[in-house]
Amino acid sequence: MKTWIPDARNFAYLNWKQVDALPRETTLLVLPTAAIEQHGHHLPLATDTLINNLLLGHALAKLPADAPVYALPPVHYGKSNEHIGFPGTLSVSSSTFMAVLRDLGASLSSAGFRKLALYNTHGGNTALIDVMARDLRAEFKLRTFALHGSGGIKFEGLKPQERAYGFHAGEVETAFLLAAAPELVDRSAYTANYIADVAKPEMLLPENAPATFAWLTRDISASGVMGDPRPATAENGARWIEEAATRLAAALEAMMRFPDSPKP
Ligand SMILES: [Zn+2]
Repeated sequence: MKTWIPDARNFAYLNWKQVDALPRETTLLVLPTAAIEQHGHHLPLATDTLINNLLLGHALAKLPADAPVYALPPVHYGKSNEHIGFPGTLSVSSSTFMAVLRDLGASLSSAGFRKLALYNTHGGNTALIDVMARDLRAEFKLRTFALHGSGGIKFEGLKPQERAYGFHAGEVETAFLLAAAPELVDRSAYTANYIADVAKPEMLLPENAPATFAWLTRDISASGVMGDPRPATAENGARWIEEAATRLAAALEAMMRFPDSPKP
């Protein structure tokens, strides 16, 4: 798999004596979580994993050289049962996903590490990340953090419809890959589909509403795309990568400064 993680920030490139020399109280370890799942006709299965690595790698490159922050190898497989029925989707169950995170937390805790950030770029994992950040805190007293997606950037230039319902393989994901790995994008195979229409608000919405319906991609989109990749440009992708990296780096720095024991 491609990587944008600087070698000096790659935990798995260390040997165990180098790991043993890391300051236990202050070292911040980042566990990337993503997915291997269908992304329409035009993007690769690894899209969420590649974007995770891309944004995290650019964020880590912005940190001061002496900041004790390392990226762990990613959990490539996520809870992707919303994309079942499309060949290539490799999903794990929620219990398996949570068990992997729990076991990795146990390993890090037994080695004496204190600070762990879960950095997730697949929507199907989001609820489980929030559960596990708290559970790892409770069970192992790890100081855990959850970090999601692009760090809350505004994505200037996105139309309201795409901003609300560009869920999957739409303009943003396509732009990221056009900027960073254009050889993996098939520009001749774009399709567009939306799960809902911002101009027609309904009582039941797919997400981010008081009343929601649980959705499966195959109910909505024959191609697997939910969004519109056609306006995506490498220029916007490069700008959003830079903005996301800046926001994610600021979040990582806040996690570094965050006290190990909160005030009573
Ligand atoms: Zn995706």
